[in-house]
Amino acid sequence: MDRKKRFLSLMLAMAVVICAMSMTVSAKTTKKTSKAAKTKTTYIVGIDAGHQLRGNSATEPNGPGSGVMKAKVAGGTRGVTTGKPEYQLTIEIAKRLKTELRSRGYKVVMTRTKNDVDISNIERAQKLNEKCDIAIRLHADGGASSAHGASVLYPSTSNPYVGHLSEASKNLSQCVVDSYCEATDISNRGLSIRDDLTGTNWSTIPVTLLEMGFMTNSFDDAYMSTEKGQANMVEGIANGIDRYFGK
Ligand SMILES: [Zn+2]
Repeated sequence: MDRKKRFLSLMLAMAVVICAMSMTVSAKTTKKTSKAAKTKTTYIVGIDAGHQLRGNSATEPNGPGSGVMKAKVAGGTRGVTTGKPEYQLTIEIAKRLKTELRSRGYKVVMTRTKNDVDISNIERAQKLNEKCDIAIRLHADGGASSAHGASVLYPSTSNPYVGHLSEASKNLSQCVVDSYCEATDISNRGLSIRDDLTGTNWSTIPVTLLEMGFMTNSFDDAYMSTEKGQANMVEGIANGIDRYFGK
């Protein structure tokens, strides 16, 4: 082999090595990207079924370091037509929502799966903070018999505990209430700022409290306990969560 041929074959060998190296790098990059994408789509949703069989009037601070003390768990309202307590309605929807979200590929953490428990609002928030990406707090309203519709409660930007979560919580709240009211016969009362809610103020993740309807209104109350109504409610909330995560 003369010098020129030897030089050419050396160059060819180097080219093969460089090509193989770049293929390895590109395969590694692709693997990394697809793993990251997969992790990002498995979101964990926390569901708090509001209230419990018996309220707990012992008090706890309504925010970390707060001097304002509130009942650990309030009693909740009751259906004017169905006679159903709020804690029973919230557990029914929470369980159905868990099934729906899991079928859509989410992981779900529940603060409670039965009524006879004693879990304070701080404890509920802390349980969801541990693992979840977002927290959905399920409640129903009580008021004048003519008052009806769903609303969502979220913290303001000046909330001393969760002000930094206000924007994300507002976005989550908007997605949930809009999708909920699109899927159901419950009217949309929109968003409200609330900075006094213990379960919200102890949150470290974006949080919304959905008032699903008024149990003191005969239409809302009856609707929220029908099979079709509950199926629509759960579909609406799940659609809102999908919308929040851009699915
Ligand atoms: Zn409630």
